[in-house]
Amino acid sequence: MADYDVDLFVIGAGSGGVRAARIAAGYGARVAIAEEYRIGGTCVVRGCVPKKLYVYASRYADEFVDAAGFGWTVPEPTFSWERLVAAKEVEITRLSGIYETNLRKAGVAIHKQRAVVTGDHAVRLADGTDVTAGVILIAAGGGATRGDFPGAELTISSSEAFDLPEFPKRIVVNGGGYIAIEFAGIFAGLGADVTLIHRGDKVLRGFDEDVRDEVAEGLKKRGVTLLLGDEIAEVAAVEGARRVTTKAGVTLDVDQVMLAVGRAPLTADLGLDATSVMRDHRGAIMVDASSRTNVPSIYAVGDVTDRLNLTPIAIREGHAFADTVFGQKPTAVDYTNVATAVFATPEVGVVGLTEAQARATFGAVDVYKARFRPMKATLSGRDDKVLMKIVVDAATDRVVGVHVVGEAAAEMIQLAAVAVKMGATKADFDDTVALHPSAAEELVTLRTKWTPS
Ligand SMILES: Cc1cc2nc3c(=O)[nH]c(=O)nc-3n(C[C@H](O)[C@H](O)[C@H](O)COP(=O)(O)OP(=O)(O)OC[C@H]3O[C@@H](n4cnc5c(N)ncnc54)[C@H](O)[C@@H]3O)c2cc1C
Repeated sequence: MADYDVDLFVIGAGSGGVRAARIAAGYGARVAIAEEYRIGGTCVVRGCVPKKLYVYASRYADEFVDAAGFGWTVPEPTFSWERLVAAKEVEITRLSGIYETNLRKAGVAIHKQRAVVTGDHAVRLADGTDVTAGVILIAAGGGATRGDFPGAELTISSSEAFDLPEFPKRIVVNGGGYIAIEFAGIFAGLGADVTLIHRGDKVLRGFDEDVRDEVAEGLKKRGVTLLLGDEIAEVAAVEGARRVTTKAGVTLDVDQVMLAVGRAPLTADLGLDATSVMRDHRGAIMVDASSRTNVPSIYAVGDVTDRLNLTPIAIREGHAFADTVFGQKPTAVDYTNVATAVFATPEVGVVGLTEAQARATFGAVDVYKARFRPMKATLSGRDDKVLMKIVVDAATDRVVGVHVVGEAAAEMIQLAAVAVKMGATKADFDDTVALHPSAAEELVTLRTKWTPS
């Protein structure tokens, strides 16, 4: 690849791009990367990391109240949004710095500006510099889709929500996916009056039905008003507020309206028309199992390909790409049994198939489930429940789905995922001695098959 300025040019220094650049450089490739915003990408700057920090912040509200049941007297707590935003900023700046340092240590040339594709082996930086590359990797990520109703320009997305200059005392969150649910929980926990508007009849489409019901219940218990089966018709600026009118005729005056109705690959202005790279109807770059597009010198990883839009997947795809193309180690990413979480309160952790998916796949399935009061709630008095559900392929006894709603569900499911990935059977779960007292022990003590009533 000596005829090119670099062996690899990566567009986008997020989860996928950074990993690919570092690993490729480690194999001796001459690598450059361009980032138009902040190194680290969505996850670090305006996704997983700041979100989880805000989830932690929001949960103190319950802790202060629950402490009374355990003998504590807690003075009236006060919350400063400004201090939270500032503390978050310090942490993501630190993380972004680590990403940058690691890239530099690996010998990757960093261009802190936008880059677009100008040919099968060429990119142009925002300052006009042209760079030729043996291979181009597009790791530009995705962005929130905007609303198409009057006044949509008055709304914000999750990106702006992290840095609002003022805490919104009243907020409408529009959407029913994990980002909408998480932000509804964050704002409610921090003291806002939250209304969730979702056009579906249930939140969290794609999740197990029991999980969907439990999460909706949890949101309501934390004071979130659910307007399901409804949509925003219009947002208007009125004196000191945003006035939301829904298609069903509900009118609400709030401080902010946050849209979380979906995300789409950021491919519109990447210069791809200068190539024949194929995109699907949503603009996602179409790739094969090794993340290669139909143009042999152009690859794409992460959200820009709209496969499984999660950080660990983008990282794996970036790593597999570098191993395959620069390490002579052809590697494909396995998308099965990827554990995921919804950092709602209560939290969701799932791995594998929903009950409905399992029935469609295997026909006969056994379902084990428990819904119980967690130990902590006995003294706190909080009306909380934990849901655990195990879905088993009846023919082989293999556990094909585990669904947990409750405190620390994400932590539990990461470990349950190891067992599911290894092909554990229900008998293996049963053979595992319980750890007492824990909520997780329920996962190995569920003995009675659930039958629909
Ligand atoms: C609110 C929110 C919460 C999330 N929470 C989680 C979570 O809890 N767990 C999880 O696994 N995932 C979560 N995600 C998803 C996760 O952030 C993404 O799946 C992941 O960041 C995708 O990585 P990527 O490398 O594909 O893209 P990104 O991380 O988005 O990186 C792409 C980068 O490319 C840059 N870029 C784009 N175009 C150009 C260009 N032309 N020139 C130069 N630079 C460019 C962008 O500025 C960006 O930095 C969350 C996302 C959001 C929005």
